[in-house]
Amino acid sequence: MIKLSYSPYTLNPVSSLNAVSLPTPREGVLFKVDWNDGHIGYGDLQPWPELGDATLQEQLAGLRAGKISAQIEQTIWLARRDAEARAKKRNLFDFGIPVKNNYTLTHIEDLEGGLLDQLKADGFDTIKVKIGRDLQDEAAALVRIAAAGFKIRLDFNALANWQIFERFMKNLTPSVRSYIEYVEDPFPYEPNAWLEAKKLAPIAIDNQYHKVRWDDLKENPFDIIVIKPAKMDVDTAIYQCQEHGLKATVTSYMDHPVGVAHAITVAMELKKAHGDLILQAGCLTHRLYQMDRFAAELDVKGPFIRRVPGTGVGFDQLLGEMSWYHIKLR
Ligand code: MG
Repeated sequence: MIKLSYSPYTLNPVSSLNAVSLPTPREGVLFKVDWNDGHIGYGDLQPWPELGDATLQEQLAGLRAGKISAQIEQTIWLARRDAEARAKKRNLFDFGIPVKNNYTLTHIEDLEGGLLDQLKADGFDTIKVKIGRDLQDEAAALVRIAAAGFKIRLDFNALANWQIFERFMKNLTPSVRSYIEYVEDPFPYEPNAWLEAKKLAPIAIDNQYHKVRWDDLKENPFDIIVIKPAKMDVDTAIYQCQEHGLKATVTSYMDHPVGVAHAITVAMELKKAHGDLILQAGCLTHRLYQMDRFAAELDVKGPFIRRVPGTGVGFDQLLGEMSWYHIKLR
């Protein structure tokens, strides 16, 4: 038996976060999970209905009715991982080895004012660009990013279609294209269309992951799985990578710093266990929101999240000070 409590939070975006969301405050909850073996751990739940998740209210209502969503299942799994480290008074950042993160560029206007020089000086070598607001300006930005020598990760969030994707890619020069490490979710998943897309760039699957019928795959329609521990069974995804010769990128879910700390420590542990299978991570997402007391606890140096002080994922004192509301499970 477990006892669940939650504590609501609000994250205030610095500006809008992708092509499908407005810069409105984001609501989520932290979970405190008590197991009857005495373990206590913490996890985060930050749904993205814009990207197909059930809303926070739906997931909490489901929970009260005894239905655990896939996302809450992950929250509890991560909380258990946290709880076991806390019980041993160990910090989860000590379980793995350092993993670099890409820089996430949500607005290409941010390139003005010497950002690329700054990122290079800070030690970044890979920039993730969200595509879909203004394809022409975005293509121009890629020219600048490639000229500065950065590897590029593109994310279409499955919002384009084959024609848009093909035109966008073919309009890039071969030189710019050579800097593209991969393209995430170019358009809605369809194995044969993605096999065609793969001829233009390595392809990563992220929010289309649930559509894959693994048993039917003859040829891989993608090269990389974007593992989001916040909503995806990590061991299963790693097994799929091994079985199908894929690589993995671990990312946070543009969620609370507790979620960020969970994601990066999972990435660090996987890196230690699986080496080259684990690519650079994408967990530096807390800066998309205004600084709060939790974000201030993240010790970030350039592309590395080095530690959060405390046990488990850290934040011991802040988590202890929060008000927790018990959820009655049926
Ligand atoms: Mg994505």
